[in-house]
Amino acid sequence: MTDKPSKHEFQAETKQVLDIVVNSLYKDKEIFVRELISNASDALEKLRRLQITEKDIQDDNLEHEIKVSTDESGKTLTIQDFGLGMDKEELIENLGTIAHSGSKAFMEALKSDGENNDNLIGKFGVGFYSVFMVADKVHAFTRTWKKDGQGQCWESDGSGSYSIEEANDQQRGTKIVINLKEEFAEYAKEDRIKDIIKKYSAFVQFPVSVNGEKVNTVDAIWLRSKKDIKDEEYEEFYKFQSNDYEAPLMRMHFSADAPLEINSLLFVPKRNMEKMGMFRNENKVALHCRKVLIDPEPKSLFPEWLRFLKGVVDSSDLPLNVSREVMQDSELLRKLNQVLTKRFLRFLNEQSKKEADTYLEFWKEFGILLKEGAATDFTYKEDLAKLLRFESTALEPGKLTGLDDYIDRMAKDQKEILFLFGKSRESIEAGPYLEALKARSLEVLLLTEPVDEYVMQSVREYKEKKIISADSEELKLEKLDEAPKGKSMTKKDTKALCKWLKETLKDKVSDVETGERLIDSPVCIVGGDGMGGASARRVMKMMQGGDGMPSAPVKLQVNQRHPIIKGLSNLVQSDSNTAELIAYQLLDNALATANLLDDPREMIARSYQAIEKLANQ
Ligand code: ADP
Ligand code: MG
Repeated sequence: MTDKPSKHEFQAETKQVLDIVVNSLYKDKEIFVRELISNASDALEKLRRLQITEKDIQDDNLEHEIKVSTDESGKTLTIQDFGLGMDKEELIENLGTIAHSGSKAFMEALKSDGENNDNLIGKFGVGFYSVFMVADKVHAFTRTWKKDGQGQCWESDGSGSYSIEEANDQQRGTKIVINLKEEFAEYAKEDRIKDIIKKYSAFVQFPVSVNGEKVNTVDAIWLRSKKDIKDEEYEEFYKFQSNDYEAPLMRMHFSADAPLEINSLLFVPKRNMEKMGMFRNENKVALHCRKVLIDPEPKSLFPEWLRFLKGVVDSSDLPLNVSREVMQDSELLRKLNQVLTKRFLRFLNEQSKKEADTYLEFWKEFGILLKEGAATDFTYKEDLAKLLRFESTALEPGKLTGLDDYIDRMAKDQKEILFLFGKSRESIEAGPYLEALKARSLEVLLLTEPVDEYVMQSVREYKEKKIISADSEELKLEKLDEAPKGKSMTKKDTKALCKWLKETLKDKVSDVETGERLIDSPVCIVGGDGMGGASARRVMKMMQGGDGMPSAPVKLQVNQRHPIIKGLSNLVQSDSNTAELIAYQLLDNALATANLLDDPREMIARSYQAIEKLANQ
């Protein structure tokens, strides 16, 4: 020892995690073995990558392996790897704070979730710190791969602080020496440790030995033939690879020879953590070249909107000797991205037919991300549009349908795919738009998520059919064979009323007309699909989070058969004040049902005026 030990306090958050870990009643204490082996394996993978690009590596001849040894009488367990090791700063950064993934996720979950902590430990693992569930004292001897680096010894009993001092005669890598608490002496038993390692570490890509005896077979499951792999093996691999505690929802094991040689094993988790508001999903599809890990989380292997995927992609076409940065924006990675994305979307479509229930489960969790893709990524527009699901007037509430099925149900002469947006199915059904479509047996997709309308506007078209909002002017409705109930006003009176309304409502309306849309309601707004259209305006409103745009003039349609409209026509002559009041009220009602009324204050004040009139009649 050359230097005096330096004493350090754990970062506050670290202390909190340690506290929970040490005092938890979590029963599967053995998971600490998995955590330490997985750290050792990470360290070896990182080293293997460095060896591709770096020349000056400490102890370059050491084997890539993990050595575990037990000392039953001394109650110690030692786990050693010959990975990349750590220098003093890295020790402080990595073992003194929780800036890294495992424990960070744990902390976030702890904050956002009142769930009991024991459960959380099981779900996330808490990485290195889990060792303090069973240890009195832990030493981490380590030496960095950098040639001029010194050996270091980190020591702690898991309470408030740790110390670091220089340690001579260290080999490259890290050796964790664990002094077990009396009651956990079992973890110093050779057989016990062997069993645990076999259970948790079957997929470690490096040889692991216990007291000199090899315990695992290094095996790349994604290179094996599908028919030889059991469901449980897939599941175990997924859990190992993604740190998930649940089985995956779907998996796609896929191989190709052209245009690229690819072996990939992709998983969809059961839950969308993002939806629970926990944290942003991170794409954890590792990139390998003939089993060698190139990058555990390559940024550009999949589009952003597939960030929930987990798994492995292995391609022997990848060059081993380029840096990760160069790889990130290589042509090859773009190609891989294209091939895999296409293939995965096709897989989803197949699933939607073969495993309809599973697909719906998937849609409920991850549909929002596919919508994100459909709205932003035009490369895969058609494939993504195919996967969208909505409620529809043709189905009972709660049931979902896709665009293909909609087209199958369309009548021969129907040109467009129709949708309506509203806060809920009920509010759309209560609005004025559906009645005319119902009378003509036209199916309407019912959109209720704020982003849905934006998604439809981006997709615009599917299989050469335009997708339009049913309140759009573009929708031309045929005259009904059987005229709706109620006597119509004369052409002349209707024309006069429309003219009067336009003059009265001034700059609030661009035009007032009669049309074929209304059956039971007195008025509605019709909007073009252009920038001034109702649909576009709702989308702007959604994106700007409230009342972004000043209310532009709208087009009003009136129902010349409706008693209110007929009454209004008479009032114009006899009581123009009341007629004006009603005109404004009708306009606001139409705006409200089109989800375009930003501020109801004026309307409420006016309705009081109307009520006052009625009350004093
Ligand atoms: P995670 O593995 O999720 O990052 P851990 O708590 O398990 O979190 O480990 C914290 C960090 O400590 C790791 O990210 C790594 O940088 C470092 N570390 C842990 N064990 C080793 C090891 N055996 N060799 C090198 N670095 C290690
Ligand atoms: Mg770890």
